[in-house]
Order: sequence, then structure tokens, then C-alpha cells
Amino acid sequence: MIIFSLRFNIGFHFSPLQAQWPEVFPHCGGTEQSPINVETSQVQHDPSLTPVQPLGYNQPGNNPFTLTNNGHTVEMSLPVWMGVGGLPWHFTAAQLHLHWGSSEVNGVARTGGSEHTINGHCSAAELHIVHYNSDVYPNISTARTERNGLAVLGVLIETGDETNSAFANIFNYLGRIRYKGQRVSIPAFDVGSLLPNDLGRFFRYNGSLTTPPCYQSVLWTVFSEKVKVSHAQLRKLETVLFSNEKEGLDSVPLRDNHREPQALNGRLVLASFTAGQCSTFTRFHKGKSDEPWQHGREELGLNTVRSFLCHSVSPRLKSLSL
Ligand SMILES: [Zn+2]
Repeated sequence: MIIFSLRFNIGFHFSPLQAQWPEVFPHCGGTEQSPINVETSQVQHDPSLTPVQPLGYNQPGNNPFTLTNNGHTVEMSLPVWMGVGGLPWHFTAAQLHLHWGSSEVNGVARTGGSEHTINGHCSAAELHIVHYNSDVYPNISTARTERNGLAVLGVLIETGDETNSAFANIFNYLGRIRYKGQRVSIPAFDVGSLLPNDLGRFFRYNGSLTTPPCYQSVLWTVFSEKVKVSHAQLRKLETVLFSNEKEGLDSVPLRDNHREPQALNGRLVLASFTAGQCSTFTRFHKGKSDEPWQHGREELGLNTVRSFLCHSVSPRLKSLSL
């Protein structure tokens, strides 16, 4: 997660440099850091977790949003009437931003730009919607340093064939903010359209900002369902922006702005769901062991079933050998 400008130009485009963060920012060496790899066989189902409730997301208002290239990410400010419910406190929205990778660098194909990973799988990109605990703290500057001061919604992004019209509301303007410090007003839109359909299935844990100063103040919600953007949209995100100012002598592409997964150090990751609650799985069946998996009368490819089990939180289902 990126909220504040770095006062020290130690950068984070290079993963080896991330190891040096604690030398300048002690919190980055703490025991409750983010992001993490969510190992679904290790999470604990918590039936008391209620679905996340976006508040005011679908009321963009009449004033435009501001999109900024801050040199580390593209960030969009959010109006104060937006927030998130379903948490122990009311959290007021502040901003959203993205993390991404680089599909191809110098002819070498690379994969993955998300911060959180699921069972070791890195998604193409990740959206973070940042809120602060306005029940307890007067502003985000105070809240960002305190436990449970921030609530961030994490949305994993993968690629598909279709253009995502919701993300187009942002991506269509990236060409106007190619350099650090540039900003542009964009038409307000329904922020809820950026979220996955199923807000009831998510992982929850206590973690941190994913960039220095890495305060351990974040109540994280990472949705199980991913959203898709087109290949062309991801390519645009990865190639259009620069991390330097326009006047700079060298142009430094803004990409690979994601932190490596951090150690859990005994933290419990909660899940709002279990595989047993997934109606899809209950409809998977097969007769004899050598017959194909079926969903109703439809024969399922093994990869479809594997994909489902990959995201299952049930150790029993995870242990099925496919
Ligand atoms: Zn972030």
C-alpha cells in the first residue's frame, strides 16, 4: 500500500532494495508486515466476519476525482462521504491506488504485479482502496500510525480478453499523468464498479503499509474473487507512466511497484468463508474415479476443478490429489 511520499529515495522497484528498508524505516522490519502470501490451507474460517459494505461508493457526486502520478503509483483521491462498513469501526475513504509488475522487460517475459499472493500465485496487479478509522482518529495522518487505524480493501487483478469499463475510467487518463507530480481531473464514477461481485468472500488479517514507513496499522481485507482487465489495459498501466519528473534527464518507467510477501510470524489469517459454503463445489461430482468431473451434465476440465480447489480454504479439499 502506498500512501505517503518517501522522504528517502531508496526506491522500491528493485526487490533487493526492499531488504534495506528496515535500516531507514524500523517499522519495515516489524513482525506484522504486509503484504503476505495467503496459504488457503492455513487460514481459519471465522463465521462472525460480515460482508464488507462499501458506503457511498455509488454516489460519486458532481465534482471530478483527481488522479495523480506520485512517482510510486497512480493514486485517485476519494470524497469523504465514501467509507466502508462491516468492520468494528467506521472507516472513511481517503484514496485508491494500484500496484503492478512488468509483463515484459527487455524482451524477457515476467509475470505478476500483485502484492498479496494466494497459495504462492501472484496476480497481474492489485487495487488498494484506503480508509481511515474516523470513529477513533481525527484524520488519516494520526490514524496511519496506530493499530486498526486504517482499513484497506485489496482487489487482485488478472487479465482477460474484455476491456474493463470500470477501470477504463482511470486507465483512459494515464497518458495525461505520465510523469511524477502530474495530476488530472477525471469524471467521477461509481467506485463500487471496481470491486468484485462477491464481497462476502474475503481474507482478513492485521498488517501494515506496504511501503515505508511500513506502519503496522492496517486491517486488511483481501477479496477472494478477482477482477479482470484486458491485456491491453494492463500493458498500458505497465508502460505509460514514469517515476521521474518530466524535466528529468532520464525516464524511469514506473512499474514493479509491489513489495514481496512478508513473514506471517504466527499471525492468523481469517477467512469469511469455507469451501463447504460454496454452492459451486457441491455441484462438482463424478461417478467412478476414472470418470471426468462434472458440473450438472457438463464435463469439467481438470484445470477448472484444480482452479477451484486452489482457492478453496478447506484442507480436506486441498488434499485431493488432482
Ligand atoms: Zn498499496
